[in-house]
Amino acid sequence: MKILLIYPGLFEGFGSYYRGVDWFNHGVGVISAILKQGGHSVEYMDCRKFSGWGELKSKIVSIEFDVTLISVATVDFDCSREIARIIKAKNPALKVMVGGPHPTLMTEQTAVVPEFDHIFTHESEITLPQILNRLDNAPRIIRGEMPEDLDLVPFVDRTLAPDGETPWYPGLPRPFFTITASRGCLYQCTFCQPAERALFGNKVRKRSVANILDELELLSSKYNMKSFMIHDDCFTQYHGWADEFCREKAKRGLMQPFVCQSRADIICKHPDLMGRLKDAGLAWVIIGIESGSNRILKYIKKGVTVEQNIEAAKICRELGIKFLANYMFGIPTETKEEMLMTFNMIKQIKPDQHSPAVFTPAPGSELYEYCCNNNLTLIDSSSGYQRTPLSGAKIKGIDYNFVDSLVYRSMNGELLGRLLHMKARLEKFLKNISKKFIKS
Ligand code: SF4
Repeated sequence: MKILLIYPGLFEGFGSYYRGVDWFNHGVGVISAILKQGGHSVEYMDCRKFSGWGELKSKIVSIEFDVTLISVATVDFDCSREIARIIKAKNPALKVMVGGPHPTLMTEQTAVVPEFDHIFTHESEITLPQILNRLDNAPRIIRGEMPEDLDLVPFVDRTLAPDGETPWYPGLPRPFFTITASRGCLYQCTFCQPAERALFGNKVRKRSVANILDELELLSSKYNMKSFMIHDDCFTQYHGWADEFCREKAKRGLMQPFVCQSRADIICKHPDLMGRLKDAGLAWVIIGIESGSNRILKYIKKGVTVEQNIEAAKICRELGIKFLANYMFGIPTETKEEMLMTFNMIKQIKPDQHSPAVFTPAPGSELYEYCCNNNLTLIDSSSGYQRTPLSGAKIKGIDYNFVDSLVYRSMNGELLGRLLHMKARLEKFLKNISKKFIKS
């Protein structure tokens, strides 16, 4: 079968791939690998590489295919619908199947779109090849069976992005690649769960260390990998496994520096593990510190305290591990004083890289339900689910000018942050004016 595999990724705009927005979608990578393993021919379209809708449309018109698979994240829902319309305009008989986090978490809303012939939920590795063999008789909504043993899943298809990705972490050499070593997360953060469990189940599934290292060896020998990131939600949640990874990585002579995600409570309780990870090449750790208010941390069930956030930053600094801090402003019930506590905590701990976000109710999460049940939601398009400043109001009761200003100031310092915020507001204003002018 000839399959057109599409990653929209358009919330960052057309051409963004060439501006460094080139992260690799592992869901698409594994689908490509299993399709090729099953003897299908795969044409891959990363829409971030196109200059605009005209080029995207010409590409769809020019290639031959039987079935399209589109990977849909919430932020890409509207453009995925537009892509499906273009395919149906080419030939209404061409099948369009959507899968990914949004169809899994918001199945009913996804099924409203008539251009989506099939809605594939959950994981694809086992069920997708079976369905493609009997697509004419397949139901509209298909639930994928979860692979229990991740070692049996093929490595993601790196030919889709053989040059790797742009590292977000200063100092890490290219080619830089990302891998996933496990699926699922044990924790309960309400801005994330139970969506994570709905996607991957209640149990965390881990690849064996040997299987992970086999993939890293392949990336080294075939793609000249110089650094990498382990994408898992929390690589350090199983200490024995992380320890084994450290030991075996060195034994195989894999010396490349790497990045992983952890949590402040784990770092505080296991600084020894962090030391071993550092010896194994851990150059950067990503920590979701989220808030400088203990009330908010408790409210979002983060399971860490402000004191642990500060201590974890200190431990990383002493060990020589750089850290990227994820934090957010504008959580339901959060006051301006509490947001300022986050701002002040960031000033105190001085992360090596800032990753602030505007709180956005993620579909499938407990806080999404809370916002819906309390009629708080203000988002009216899929692009509104972006977590960046000036991406629009998310919920009622939050001063977004204040939130956006804190995002800029926490990243850039007081004066430069204020200037950059003003510049961004002006640019947005001019963009809106020119859009209105073009329309009229
Ligand atoms: S935010 Fe991170 S630690 Fe918390 S539940 Fe989600 S994946 Fe797990």
